[in-house]
Amino acid sequence: MNKYEIAVVPGDGIGNEVIPASIKVLDVLAVTFGFQLAYKHYDYSCKNFAKVGKMMPDDGLEKLRDCDSIFLGAVGYPGVPDHISLWGLLIPIRRAFDQYINLRPVRLLKGVDSPLKNIGNVDYMIVRENSEGEYSNIGGRFNEGTENEMVKQESIFTKKGVDRVMKYAFELAQKRNNKITSATKSNGIIHTMTYWDERFKEIGTAYPNVEKNQFHIDILCAHFVQHPEWFDVVVASNLFGDILSDLGPAVVGGIGIAAGGNINPEKIFPSMFEPVHGSAPDIAGKNIANPIACFWTGAMMLAHLGELEAAKLLMDAIETLTFSRKVLTRDLGGTATTTEVTNELINIIKNNSFIKI
Ligand code: ATP
Repeated sequence: MNKYEIAVVPGDGIGNEVIPASIKVLDVLAVTFGFQLAYKHYDYSCKNFAKVGKMMPDDGLEKLRDCDSIFLGAVGYPGVPDHISLWGLLIPIRRAFDQYINLRPVRLLKGVDSPLKNIGNVDYMIVRENSEGEYSNIGGRFNEGTENEMVKQESIFTKKGVDRVMKYAFELAQKRNNKITSATKSNGIIHTMTYWDERFKEIGTAYPNVEKNQFHIDILCAHFVQHPEWFDVVVASNLFGDILSDLGPAVVGGIGIAAGGNINPEKIFPSMFEPVHGSAPDIAGKNIANPIACFWTGAMMLAHLGELEAAKLLMDAIETLTFSRKVLTRDLGGTATTTEVTNELINIIKNNSFIKI
């Protein structure tokens, strides 16, 4: 029997509701498919920062190093600035474990309303570079407090860093529909983005069957809204990928169902799976958070661990749930609680009551 060790970091706010809900679902799948999930819980969070001044203990990363995957809820707490949670927890994990791919699926599930009229079939993956690019800590302030005050923030694009994200995206395109789009802005950002385009072209020569196109980020944002059905795999730098991966899910049902993974493709280090949403302090503790984003994130984790059948079944169960529209949370137009949605999903799996869609 395959056994996986999962480091669980519920974090803050609704992370403490959607992660336990997802664990219940994962446990049902483990029994159904005959694998074992062993969880170790860690209380790394902004709440912890507010108490002891640290997001995680000094050996926090070491504790995670040997697990098979990290399952993270959300971090964020009123009064703790976002850059503390980002640079005190998420970025250290992503960088220490070389999770250089941020993968975000964008799919319009049956039964989910889009804010767009006449939307077609939307199903694409955003592959965001997750380790360098615009999110570097190189820079600083100079002549602070004087009339010559200046700030500088460097973007870093390495050949290794760009090529590996391109390769991952092309490989993914080959496994899907042989179509890839690159997000660029080489008309305005003339050094890093022209390099990005060059590497896209060069790496692309090894994938002759993949249809390639590229758009400047501004018009690409417009296409994401006006023609979301055009896309299959979209590869983007850290900043552009960050923006696109909130915009993409927004047109297919919003943040309550948006899943994400920070992937170390070589599996040398653990990958980290986290829903796109934050800690949602406005609804935390009310048992009304939509757990679907976290369920879908759990499905991505199972797929990464190699439990492909379980991952597929979980996605089918999620789509049965949304298609029937009987038990949904408020953000999807329903009235159900987090617990009710979780129980309904488990019933679908246990009773094998999938709807053929
Ligand atoms: P943080 O500071 O942790 O990023 P935030 O409130 O700025 O928190 P999100 O947590 O992403 O950002 O929430 C944005 C909005 O979306 C909030 O109104 C929140 O209630 C809503 N929201 C986020 N996640 C969910 C969810 N799973 N179910 C329902 N609503 C959600």
